[in-house]
Amino acid sequence: MAAIQASVGNQGRNLSADVLDVQALLKANGCDPGVVDGLCGAKTIAAIVTFQRASLITADGLIEPGRATWLKLSGTTAPPPAPPAGTWSGDSAKWTHRKKLESMHPDLRPKVEAMLDALRIRAYQPKIFYGWRSVAVQLELYNQGNSKVKFSFHNAQNVDGTPNAYAADIIDERYAWSPQAEASGFWKALGEEAKKQSLFWGGDWSGFRDWAHVQLVANDELARVKRESGL
Ligand SMILES: [Zn+2]
Repeated sequence: MAAIQASVGNQGRNLSADVLDVQALLKANGCDPGVVDGLCGAKTIAAIVTFQRASLITADGLIEPGRATWLKLSGTTAPPPAPPAGTWSGDSAKWTHRKKLESMHPDLRPKVEAMLDALRIRAYQPKIFYGWRSVAVQLELYNQGNSKVKFSFHNAQNVDGTPNAYAADIIDERYAWSPQAEASGFWKALGEEAKKQSLFWGGDWSGFRDWAHVQLVANDELARVKRESGL
């Protein structure tokens, strides 16, 4: 739907093409404007008021380009539909690189992409091993001694259950976690690039050093992230 050119409704300019668009949209939204004829009469204004009340917008009977009623009516602000169920299933370590990036918090994603670019320029072959992973996989890693926590920043999700990882594990695909990863300087380079992106790096942790791990926020925010994930 193209934007309206001028205001429509009570004391609006009511250009015929704009009124036609508004009437069609009102009708599609279940607010009957009467005949869709491009003429803004009492029925059209009443339908605008009905739509505004239902949308909790000030019911002045007027729609202006770019303002709340138009945005709501034309669906400009409608959020993108959630991915269909099953989209996020399967072994998240085997997802495509693109999908691993998509499983990350929107603030983490561009930082990881910048890190990957920087590491490639440094002649490494970086690969995201995990973005998001399920709580079940996390528990396996915990039981195997490969993680210190039963809930990690990798497990963060949106309230609708879609992935929203606050962490990523990045390896050089030639070395993975072998001694060559350290010998090649990859872990050190990873830590440097993480810091350039203001990320926290697991290689800095005392005791259990999680070399491949970067995360968006500090460890003391884990409880908050868990709560906001509804987990
Ligand atoms: Zn990790």
